[in-house]
Amino acid sequence: MEAKLDVSLLDAVAPAPGEPGREILDPATGELVGVAPVHGLDQLEAAVAAAKAAQPAWAAAGHPARSAALNAAADAVEAHADELARILSREQGKPLNGPNARFEVGACAAWLRATAATVLEPETVVEDGETRAVLHYRPIGIVGAIGPWNWPMMITVWQIAPALRMGNAVVVKPSEHTPLSVLALAEVLNQSIPAGLLTVVSGDREVGEGLANHPAIGKVMFTGSTATGKAIIRSSADTVKRLTLELGGNDAGIVLPDADPSAIAEGLFWGAFINTGQTCAALKRLYVHQDIYEDVCQALTDYARTVPMGVGLDEQNLLGPLQNRDQYRIVADLVEAAKASGARILLGGNPDESQPGHFYPTTLVADIDNENPLVAQEQFGPALPIVKYTDVEEAIQMANGLEVGLGASVWSADPEAAREVATRLDAGTVWVNAHGAVDPRIPFGGAKQSGYGLEFGAEGLKHLGQPQIING
Ligand code: NAD
Repeated sequence: MEAKLDVSLLDAVAPAPGEPGREILDPATGELVGVAPVHGLDQLEAAVAAAKAAQPAWAAAGHPARSAALNAAADAVEAHADELARILSREQGKPLNGPNARFEVGACAAWLRATAATVLEPETVVEDGETRAVLHYRPIGIVGAIGPWNWPMMITVWQIAPALRMGNAVVVKPSEHTPLSVLALAEVLNQSIPAGLLTVVSGDREVGEGLANHPAIGKVMFTGSTATGKAIIRSSADTVKRLTLELGGNDAGIVLPDADPSAIAEGLFWGAFINTGQTCAALKRLYVHQDIYEDVCQALTDYARTVPMGVGLDEQNLLGPLQNRDQYRIVADLVEAAKASGARILLGGNPDESQPGHFYPTTLVADIDNENPLVAQEQFGPALPIVKYTDVEEAIQMANGLEVGLGASVWSADPEAAREVATRLDAGTVWVNAHGAVDPRIPFGGAKQSGYGLEFGAEGLKHLGQPQIING
């Protein structure tokens, strides 16, 4: 067990006297959570200088020492789990329980340990008596990590754990919506990681841009919207940076006619509504065969009614508010447009705008066209459109019809039939009778405009190393 810090994490990460700060409000109540520092390009330069100074010794330390540091960092996260979960819940809005704040903090420790345990050996490519060629992965140097506001702690760990394990230093730019979660997490991790290797620069978009075009940064790990991903490709071009881009999705789920509606309802619900729908690889459009369409709609509605939504710190809640007002407006406007088009509201669709917080009710929308904006655009919130199909070829075509392809799922009583459909879907991951589960041993990444590069497992480590062939 690591020693606890002797001040609260929020006090430890607050702006220094005279430093600019931003008040962070709880999206469920509007109450003040804390004040985050607002860093600028000067702090980015200082972070890069510290990273440059610390990285060579870290690279020389070797894999066993770096893995030991990651395991110690996981111990520190566990020692501070309760405080971290409360900060995350208050800042992001997600409840403590269910697949939410405590789960996210647990995942941070689990990913640190799994990354420490993953083996990446040099690979002998040719050895035939005449030629000997071996592929190694060297540290890149300094890695930039730019993250979103939906799973701020977990995604930061996904970016920094493999970067550190491979001998790099990291400069992190958290979302301006959730800086406290990332600053608090780094405060804890830095109890176990040598100084200078992990610095959070808690600034606005200009810091993200500064990081993406910085000549001393060799690689950027980015998770966020497709639009920002494209901006990062442009601003990183002059320095020919390596990029891993985990971008937006609009995942389709296809329910085949032999599926049992009551058996799949819970899985469908959490596939779509995990983190109140604010998840990159959540199920965002559901295609159901006409034979079981009404039964699936009914089973989903019955299950959805049982899942409580409310303030994150109340132990019974499993769904929370949208993290910010802009996201609330996107969801509300998409559902209003669906209603106006004549779609049938099975549940929700009636927000109470007089209550504090960015709560949008759990919403299920049936009898909706595939071209409707609630289907064609990423809603990133608790509103699921359910489209009827008559022929599986038509469902595959609709599922593949968008420019994004992060995840997808197929639901059936016959997993073999589902796997056959899965091979025809344009998505980085296709789940069978589930949606959205991630695992630190299994590579994860997007197809089409959902991004490129893989995270997790040995493939994930390779993306944080510079490949080098030693020929001879
Ligand atoms: P966003 O793109 O608005 O912001 C992400 C980060 O990029 C923030 O830190 C922001 O400050 C920074 N940024 C903004 N403009 C920048 C620029 N020009 N240069 C560099 N950095 C810049 O995304 P968001 O709203 O925080 O996150 C939601 C989106 O992220 C959704 O589309 C979701 O699908 C996607 N997402 C994808 C994954 C995945 O693994 N594929 C995971 C989570 C979220």
